Amino acid sequence: MEMKAVRSAYRPSGKLPARALAMMILASLIAVPLGLLMSNVIVGVGGAIAYVPQVIHESVLQSGAFDWYLPQVIWIIVVFLTLALAYGEIGGAGALIVCEAGNRWRNRNTVVPVILSAVSTVIALPLLVLNMNAVAASGWLGEKFSEAMSAAFGMSGWALSAPALGGSVALVTTVCITISEIRKVRFCEACETPLLERDIRSVGEHDIEPLVQSIQAGDFARTETLLDSAYGGSGAATLLWCPRCGRGYVEVKSEGENLVASREIGPEDFRGAKKAPAGGASR
Ligand SMILES: [Zn+2]
Repeated sequence: MEMKAVRSAYRPSGKLPARALAMMILASLIAVPLGLLMSNVIVGVGGAIAYVPQVIHESVLQSGAFDWYLPQVIWIIVVFLTLALAYGEIGGAGALIVCEAGNRWRNRNTVVPVILSAVSTVIALPLLVLNMNAVAASGWLGEKFSEAMSAAFGMSGWALSAPALGGSVALVTTVCITISEIRKVRFCEACETPLLERDIRSVGEHDIEPLVQSIQAGDFARTETLLDSAYGGSGAATLLWCPRCGRGYVEVKSEGENLVASREIGPEDFRGAKKAPAGGASR
């Protein structure tokens, strides 16, 4: 029987150290030129790849035998993915660079990095459109690809539909990546140290229920005994702990990947498991 899913006992305080804020603002500005540079690389590589099916299609046409549609379909897919990626990447660059700065300088806030990544993306978007229109006008990736670029980044359409759609893709991308990246790193609130994380044991269906009960009861001696005799399975018992003060969390995931136990632990709990090397023999 699948056990009831619980919320993680880890709750970030939402604290935003001043240095983390300053570095994230700087990162959101640095992300603009870096994102634009990346989008040019993407368009260059995508345009080069799209050239192959285009040449195949043209040579088949010239042979006069028949009109073969497959190369055209491949061309459309490559071009669509390239231009969508150029928009999405602008959002991704802002998110990744802001989160890298936030996690490095011990930010535990989610709202501020989301806002900063979004601001970075909003600044970059009109520059992306101008940049891509200039690339399309230069025509160095071929007439056909330039036409597709003008359609994707052109400002003449109904309510600027292509840039509006692409901009929405970029903004959704930046928000999703920021939230996921910020959640990846968890901190000890007592000493602002990133927590170490390790799956101490894989656990099967039959071991999970007593294990969860011992954790809920705070009987960690029993938890450790149960873990020693656990037979293995696709569930996992995970320890997160602070390398400085030893505080942390014990968590159990069921075979269905649901979090079924999560509890704060003290410096003296699971001492042996914390000392064992990551990915060691205990698994
Ligand atoms: Zn600590």
